[in-house]
Amino acid sequence: MITLQNITKTFTTAGGPLHAVSSASLQIEQGDIYGLIGFSGAGKSTLLRTINLLERPDEGHVIVDGEELTQLPLRELRKKRLSIGMIFQHFNLLNNLNVYDNVSFPLEIAKMPKAERHKRIESCLEMVGLSDKAKAYPAKLSGGQKQRVAIARALANNPKILLCDEPTSSVDPQTTGSILAALKEINRNLGITIVIVTHEMNVVKAICNKVAVMEHGVIVEKFDLSEKDIVPQSNIAQYLFNNEI
Ligand code: ATP
Ligand code: MG
Repeated sequence: MITLQNITKTFTTAGGPLHAVSSASLQIEQGDIYGLIGFSGAGKSTLLRTINLLERPDEGHVIVDGEELTQLPLRELRKKRLSIGMIFQHFNLLNNLNVYDNVSFPLEIAKMPKAERHKRIESCLEMVGLSDKAKAYPAKLSGGQKQRVAIARALANNPKILLCDEPTSSVDPQTTGSILAALKEINRNLGITIVIVTHEMNVVKAICNKVAVMEHGVIVEKFDLSEKDIVPQSNIAQYLFNNEI
């Protein structure tokens, strides 16, 4: 479903070239909840953002559903991006719009007719358990509710893939549970493939079936979490697996 082949991304900084991602390869299958874990600066967000080409790699191939994205003309790429939703640590809601209009926004851009839009918004809000908050403004919502609005908005265009960049990093542990439950449910009920960046192993253990561990821009190890005997080899993977952080 998603193939990343030898992805390399180097940023030019005042201090010289910064190798954010070096020759990273990943194979993500349909229906996976795939974790990318590592400490701050490991290159997790940069790698995640190459999947919809928000970050264009210097080298390597991004293949989504058999299509090589780096080769697509911009118009085709924009269309393709509609099949890839994204959510962020700080929710990125439009604060001057209520919940209903936040979810409506991407549909208006996609020029969906009003009646169809209304049905779609209602079903997206129902999926994340927020039908009763349609008229509320983001300022009146808890962190977990805001993130579930962001999930509903990301689902509006019926994506096959949802990219999540630290979706639980700015909420408390209890709220983390409600966000992860919502993600697990849409994965199970809608078959949406999820890629989730985190620095918390408990998030990976709660919902992921596979995980890649990143350090200094490199994928150092990958694990299939459905396997019984997981023996991390690298220091970083051992540390992450053996400490509940
Ligand atoms: P965090 O957990 O802090 O979010 P991360 O693993 O997501 O970290 P990235 O954001 O991918 O890490 O960054 C990897 C490296 O690339 C870091 O050293 C970062 O400073 C650098 N970097 C990321 N984006 C840019 C940019 N646009 N310009 C310059 N350097 C960048
Ligand atoms: Mg990041």
